[in-house]
Amino acid sequence: SATATDIAKRPIKVLLLGDGGVGKTTFVRRHQTGEFEKNYIPTLGVEVKKLKFPTTLGEISLEIWDVAGQERFGGIRDGYYIGAECAILMFDVSSRVTYKNIPTWDRDIKRVIGCDIPVVLCGNKVDLMDRQVKPEQIVYHRKNNYQYYDVSTQSNYNFVNPFLYLIRKITGCPNLGFIQSSVSSPTSESVTTSMDAYEAELLSASLPTVVDEDD
Ligand code: GDP
Repeated sequence: SATATDIAKRPIKVLLLGDGGVGKTTFVRRHQTGEFEKNYIPTLGVEVKKLKFPTTLGEISLEIWDVAGQERFGGIRDGYYIGAECAILMFDVSSRVTYKNIPTWDRDIKRVIGCDIPVVLCGNKVDLMDRQVKPEQIVYHRKNNYQYYDVSTQSNYNFVNPFLYLIRKITGCPNLGFIQSSVSSPTSESVTTSMDAYEAELLSASLPTVVDEDD
């Protein structure tokens, strides 16, 4: 049977799905390093972007399959989904329709893969003042046993936690951590990358949502 170190040796295919304009491309670009590799698969209209994360288990490579704008036109071929080990479903908290469309994206994952894979639901653009999808309205992940994170690719809020969560799930190592230098982003301002901060972020994300809004 595969051990966590075996898993670390091969790239993990990650689906990145959500409506056009929610911030998928920007999100992957946030993780871009000097070693960033990008491959375009014309038959599928997909861009595969490789991200490397040095972790406490060695380097782990993720292949992020980005639909590269095709989501705007509907049809995504089954070849896009085949072999995926996990997925990131993204919506924009300033656009209700992008949250409403999440089940449709998820249905396609389930239809093609036919079994449960780890999924992270991300509500992006939490930096915007006119948030339309409030934290208490975000419930889709609960009944599906997915993880949820508020994120902002603009401010780098929670930008490593979705990847850390998925890698931990796939390796089966809940204590796996990123090594400090792993997530340096050329565009990041002052990102805290210490493992303590990851742990704190993960812990707070796993606690019940506290609703402190006055509406
Ligand atoms: P995609 O179509 O899902 O790949 O979305 P893009 O990555 O192209 O982003 C669409 C637009 O949203 C761009 O103008 C981005 O600059 C903007 N955007 C992406 N992430 C954020 C964010 O966290 N906050 C804000 N305010 N804008 C964002």
